[in-house]
Amino acid sequence: MDWEFFGNLPLLNNTCMLKVEHIGIAVASLTDAIPLFEKLLNSPCYKQEAVETEQVLTAFFRQGESKVELLEAMGPESVIARFIAKKGAGIHHIAFEVSNIEEEMQRLAAEGFTLLQDKPRQGADNKLVCFLHPKDTSGVLVELCQERK
Ligand code: ZN
Repeated sequence: MDWEFFGNLPLLNNTCMLKVEHIGIAVASLTDAIPLFEKLLNSPCYKQEAVETEQVLTAFFRQGESKVELLEAMGPESVIARFIAKKGAGIHHIAFEVSNIEEEMQRLAAEGFTLLQDKPRQGADNKLVCFLHPKDTSGVLVELCQERK
C-alpha cells in the first residue's frame, strides 16, 4: 500500500472549494452587454449592483448552479477599466464558492499562492470575497467567495 499517497489525501480532499460560483466577464458597457447575454443565455439579468469600493457595476445571470457576472468600470481608475485597456473585454475572473473563506485563504497562502487581500472584503451579490494573484494561477484571476450570513 502506498502510504505516501494516503498521506497526501487531505490535500486532495477538496471539501472547501464547493463549485464554480460564477465567471466574471469585463464588458465595455452593461447597456450593450445585458441584452446580448440575455439573448445568449436565454435568461434575464436578475440583479444589477454597484460595488463602490471596486468602482464596478455588476450584472448577474443565473445559469443552473453557476452564474455569469458582467463587470463594467465606473471610472478610469477601476480595475475593470485597466483590464479592458490592457487586454480588451472578455473573461476577467473565475470565482469559486468556498465553505469557509478564512480557512481557504490560510490554506492557499500556506500553499504559496499570493492573496490580493489580507481579509475577506465585501463583494457583489452578498458575498465575502478574496482574489488570488494571477501570477501564481496560470494567469487566471481567481476569486474565492462565500455567501454572507
Ligand atoms: Zn466575481
